[in-house]
Amino acid sequence: MPGYSETVDRLISALGGLPGIGAKSAERLAHHLLKCPVDEAIELADAIREAKDRIRHCEICFHLTEAEQPVCAICRDPRRDQGLVCVVEQSRDLMAVEKANAHPGVYHVLLGRLAPLQGIGPEQLTIDPLERRVRAGSIRELIMATNPNLEGDGTALLISNRLADTGVRITRLARGLASGSTLEFASRDMLADAVAGRQPF
Ligand SMILES: [Zn+2]
Repeated sequence: MPGYSETVDRLISALGGLPGIGAKSAERLAHHLLKCPVDEAIELADAIREAKDRIRHCEICFHLTEAEQPVCAICRDPRRDQGLVCVVEQSRDLMAVEKANAHPGVYHVLLGRLAPLQGIGPEQLTIDPLERRVRAGSIRELIMATNPNLEGDGTALLISNRLADTGVRITRLARGLASGSTLEFASRDMLADAVAGRQPF
């Protein structure tokens, strides 16, 4: 971007690399950061650094957890039904289901969905650990809560096929969720209905 110094260019380009941030927004954010009090900008930088240093994936469900707690708060919660596992693509989908307050069980975060065209196959996801969890024997139901679009459905189907011989009950969120939509942006009520009305896969 001609007219900016190297340092400003670097900041704009780093911000522009974030999802959903186009060139114009990146430039606007950079100007904001340059204008705001130093403390505020440093606080943001520190929060990013600390999150990257300290946040890990839960050893059981792959949700985000602090480094000194290898198992997340949800998996550690004795009031949650450890036999009922809601399978989601991302931690932010888990947060959407949590906010809907509709799921008394625990989770499994796949860390993505199958996307063969982008080279994302089962081995890039946490399907093997999920299979080990199921084969260990204490899970009675998996609620497939992958997004209701082609890739989400494909991911749920593969998992369902792979676990067919285990006898675990596999259900899918009810289709109150519009096809092609994402969990993240569903309303709480819609999500709560979708969990309550789940169907055999
Ligand atoms: Zn966990």
